[in-house]
Amino acid sequence: MFLPTKDWSLLRAPWFAAAFLMAWIAGFGNASAEPSKQNRANPSTIAKQTSKSHAITFASVDGDVQITSEFAGGRMNGCQQVSASEFAITIHPERDQINDSAWYAFRIDSTQPRDVCVRLNYVGGSHRYDPKVSRDGKTWMATPQWVTKRHPLGSEVELSIPLDGKPIWIAGQELIGGEVLQRWTDTLESLPYVNRSVIGQSVQGRPLHRLDITDADRPDYVFIVARQHPPEVSGAIGMMHFVETIADASPLSEQFRSRYCAAVVPMVNPDGVAQGHWRCNANGVDLNRDWAHFSQPETKAVVNQLLACRKTDDGRLCLFIDFHSTFDDVFYTTPPKANLFPQGFTDQWLGAIQGRFPAYEVNRKANHNLQRSTSKAYVARTLGVTAITYEFGDETDRETIRTVASGAAEEMMRLLVNLPAGTAEPSIADRGAAESTDLVAVGADPKR
Ligand SMILES: [Zn+2]
Repeated sequence: MFLPTKDWSLLRAPWFAAAFLMAWIAGFGNASAEPSKQNRANPSTIAKQTSKSHAITFASVDGDVQITSEFAGGRMNGCQQVSASEFAITIHPERDQINDSAWYAFRIDSTQPRDVCVRLNYVGGSHRYDPKVSRDGKTWMATPQWVTKRHPLGSEVELSIPLDGKPIWIAGQELIGGEVLQRWTDTLESLPYVNRSVIGQSVQGRPLHRLDITDADRPDYVFIVARQHPPEVSGAIGMMHFVETIADASPLSEQFRSRYCAAVVPMVNPDGVAQGHWRCNANGVDLNRDWAHFSQPETKAVVNQLLACRKTDDGRLCLFIDFHSTFDDVFYTTPPKANLFPQGFTDQWLGAIQGRFPAYEVNRKANHNLQRSTSKAYVARTLGVTAITYEFGDETDRETIRTVASGAAEEMMRLLVNLPAGTAEPSIADRGAAESTDLVAVGADPKR
């Protein structure tokens, strides 16, 4: 399974040289910036395709295999044919010096059933996501068994892919992009107590949507955001189940909505998702490190909504949850003694989730990243409100995500409907003492 670097070089050396020579003769040694007809390989002459763009289309020498990343969420920066049935794909991040969440997504079309070997070569990162595959671009299946070789440093993996003459999508995670979110929000919006609004635009002009789920005229608020980081799909799946539970027909959810509003921004970074980014928005900024500067239109739009929740006459902001993904399921929280409103909520909530799922380990890491400009740190430090980063594991079983996220939403609602009315939210002026004593900086996990 594990080959040293030199063996990888030897394996591909003869075909690499031949393919490179063919590409050079054909004049395709230079990269082109944007997806266009120039990026499309001519099947009769080209065996290599490279580009600074994440969206290119490659054709095999015999013309029967096409590999493309020219779709929303696609990422493949280069492709070359190594032998009749072997292809080497290059994956770049959107900028240098970036969190190592190496996203890839491409589709292979062929008319003949055949087995192909595809090598993923990562530039500036390493393999994180085992492949998920789809035959229709909608339903997905995890296929870790397709990974037949891994470079020990993760710089290259080899996938063995059975083609059946029909298109096949291969991506780091399920493709849950703008279109899927649109259908999801359309379904929710058909409910009488769900309203959608556009709260701003991304750098590239994509709308930023907010859903309000409430039956109350002057509600207290739970504010939920997701997808600041494009590849963190398991977090988005968790957010969707969490929100669907708040919107369901159970007596508990009805009771919750009679007093609270769940304000949801389901995709904070639509440009990054559409362009298959590893981490950033279209300006190359990590949005979850922009919650002190608010230099980007996406973070500005969200924080304006968040602050407006505190300005309503009777409403209070009671909880902020930011959904992400990392290697395992984990709640990144503020310190247990932090003086946040509602007092003691985090302990009670995570305890209730653990009590509900005894066989599931509720993993809490307190004091995470509080020195950084993250959403959670901003809300806790500046607004004095309980803020939690809710992470699901990259490869956590999707049914487990559904069960735990739905249960977590119910336990949250059960606690909040019992919160005494009129309990004062701490004023911003009161935050000074808590900030200097409780919210101290500790080590950070760069994967988050
Ligand atoms: Zn994240």
